Amino acid sequence: MKCSQGEGFSNGELQRFGNIELSPSAGVLNYGQGLFEGLKAYRKEDGNILLFRPEENALRMRLGAERMCMPSPTVEQFVDAVKATVLANKRWIPPAGKGSLYIRPLLMGSGAVLGLAPAPEYTFLIYVSPVGNYFKEGVAPIHLIIEHDLHRATPGGTGGVKTIGNYAAVLKAQSAAKEQGYSDVLYLDCVHKKYLEEVSSCNIFVVKGKVISTPEIKGTILPGITRKSIIDVARSQGFQERLVTVDELLDADEVFCTGTAVVVSPVGSITYRGERVLYNKGGVGAVSQQLYSVLTRLQMGLVKDNMNWTVELS
Ligand code: PMP
Repeated sequence: MKCSQGEGFSNGELQRFGNIELSPSAGVLNYGQGLFEGLKAYRKEDGNILLFRPEENALRMRLGAERMCMPSPTVEQFVDAVKATVLANKRWIPPAGKGSLYIRPLLMGSGAVLGLAPAPEYTFLIYVSPVGNYFKEGVAPIHLIIEHDLHRATPGGTGGVKTIGNYAAVLKAQSAAKEQGYSDVLYLDCVHKKYLEEVSSCNIFVVKGKVISTPEIKGTILPGITRKSIIDVARSQGFQERLVTVDELLDADEVFCTGTAVVVSPVGSITYRGERVLYNKGGVGAVSQQLYSVLTRLQMGLVKDNMNWTVELS
């Protein structure tokens, strides 16, 4: 789908996957006007397909578009385009329990612009790919390192929206962490350098005693849809959304990450300033295990969806 600045998108069409043509002075290439989303489609045992809260991704893209001076598809256009793309790619969805189809909606300033300004034209497209587990460890614990010097977001910046530049900002620390054998990087706030923010591509939760806490959203953390869903599931279990310090993290009983790609991943260890803290002796904690199974059973259609979160396609 395409549209000009100040106008709405008209409905798009299905095309074969392939390269797209862009002007060298496209807004997205020069001034980073790009936003994306990530969703998954799971195949059920009966062959039908389930999407998880796609309207939440549509709403997040609309909020992001507002921050990035871009027009965006309506919620209905977004969800209809996701459904049409998934149905057209049905044969790529792995069998039940064997993975999922990752769906990547992308909105960009595709029009040419030389001086710094919003692009005159925008393109919205969706592509898909079958995927297995995000971390090579699967649902086994992941190992994080806290980054002290580099930050992915600053107050007043764009950290709270899913814009492409946020991911460019994490590549350096993330590549270094992976080279050293860590799964990913955990970022701290850039003002006090003591409050937890999030991981390069997922949100973080800390469990102490009977209380589950996660950093509150203040513009520097992406409001994850998995995070929101886990909060709804965990609300009855003593839940807090607030500032969480590194000291609390290091003293936690259990830590886990949430995201579309990682689902609920237990954290086996955190390394901070050269010291490594193990959780559950490096194994999977009970809370992560329970929330993982509640969420995945809902997403895969193994239990009745009383939350009304899934959208079924056949
Ligand atoms: N934080 C960041 C920076 C992310 O890229 C993602 C993945 N979209 C998340 C958190 C988790 O968000 P969600 O649960 O919507 O996938």
